[in-house]
Amino acid sequence: MIVDTARIERLLKEAVVTEEGVAEILQRASEGRGLVLEDAAALISIEDPRLRKMLCKTAGEVKEKLFGKRVVLFAPLYLSNYCTNGCLYCGFRSSNRTVSRKALTPEEVVAEARTLVAMGFKRVLLVTGEDPRWDLGYIIDCVQAVYRNTGMRIVHVNAPPMDVPSLKKLKAAGVGVFQVFQETYHRPTYGRVHPSGKKKDYDFRIEVMDRAMEAGFGDVGIGSLLGLYDFRFDSLATLAHSFHLYEKFGAQAHTVSIPRLRPAAHFAMNDVPYPVSDEDFKKIVAVYRLTVPTAGVVVSTRESAGLRNSLIRSGATQLSAASRTSPGGYSKDGTDTLEQFSTNDHRTLVEVMKSIVDEGGLPSLCTTCYRVGRTGREFTEKTKAGEMEKFCQANAILTLKEYLADCPVNGTKESMEKALSKAIGEIKDPAIKKALAEKLKALDAGERDLYF
Ligand code: SF4
Repeated sequence: MIVDTARIERLLKEAVVTEEGVAEILQRASEGRGLVLEDAAALISIEDPRLRKMLCKTAGEVKEKLFGKRVVLFAPLYLSNYCTNGCLYCGFRSSNRTVSRKALTPEEVVAEARTLVAMGFKRVLLVTGEDPRWDLGYIIDCVQAVYRNTGMRIVHVNAPPMDVPSLKKLKAAGVGVFQVFQETYHRPTYGRVHPSGKKKDYDFRIEVMDRAMEAGFGDVGIGSLLGLYDFRFDSLATLAHSFHLYEKFGAQAHTVSIPRLRPAAHFAMNDVPYPVSDEDFKKIVAVYRLTVPTAGVVVSTRESAGLRNSLIRSGATQLSAASRTSPGGYSKDGTDTLEQFSTNDHRTLVEVMKSIVDEGGLPSLCTTCYRVGRTGREFTEKTKAGEMEKFCQANAILTLKEYLADCPVNGTKESMEKALSKAIGEIKDPAIKKALAEKLKALDAGERDLYF
């Protein structure tokens, strides 16, 4: 069994939250070596604002200890909104006749990716619906076209679950992270909100990350769509899924995403069944950070700028930015096709970078680990041992320096350069410091794509 849901229900029922208990868990968590599910059940059950504050503070400290100040930025690129599934919460569902459908050609995908590269992005997440007409061959054509014809350095994919031979082909095409969200781990709810299409099959979906790892993906991305069911259950189940991958393959989930459901015009449900407040959302980010500290915690533009800014200090490590969630949304204005979800943070990349700096973080466009094979088990172990912080911080510095040299910075140059100098001054490792100085000089001389 990948996730023991009866155990999760029991843990939540038995969870005891006391000030002493929370303080003891946070003390252990502060070492950055993770927690067990019993601890996570207690933390996710915290209601007292004072204890929540302590939780978020510790999560922010652990994030910094393991990854430095960096916050990685990426953009999603929607390939197609054709879909044969009937997910009640999604505007792309097959029964939604109001949406105009579009599948980008590989040439159009290249145009989209070039637009993103011109903005400064180096990593992209290709997202596609489930339709046999736009199958694995199509996704691979798009991945390869992006690598061949744009300056994009790493391509991740969010696609429907598939079998091991297909996943092997996807991996061979150079995909970094393979991402599939279970949406909800609560089987009865899953059945209700996925009434038709292949996605009805709960087991085929939950087992996909085992297949991905068997196919050679060291890095997989999981998550649940918060709001479909009790967030305490789904958060714990997501963590249990990551533990399962660690026990079986030696690598925790590389990323854990936290999309939050919001009421929308395209809904086929009356409302969000289990709304999640901003305070609970922050708590989930912090609990993920402390329980599986090696995982990237990814926050999308579904969330507001204000909330995303605050999450930088409580454990989030990756933000999407400037997102368009309709196929063709970057090259054109994207208004002719329905977005999968409406975004709440409409800032440009540079505006998001500037606010990361204002919050004391360091925006990063790094793509190194996937390209040097620092993935899967090795990544989990190195991060747990505290060895990634120096790489992440130095690579954030290099990519920010490159960004400032090559991209429009709209009056933010001064504050970004100040943050850059401060970050350089904070590098402790003498060998990294020396090598970094040389690489920065090389960037000034026109070299590009330098990393540790
Ligand atoms: S060094 Fe690795 S973990 Fe750190 S930001 Fe770069 S790719 Fe991510």
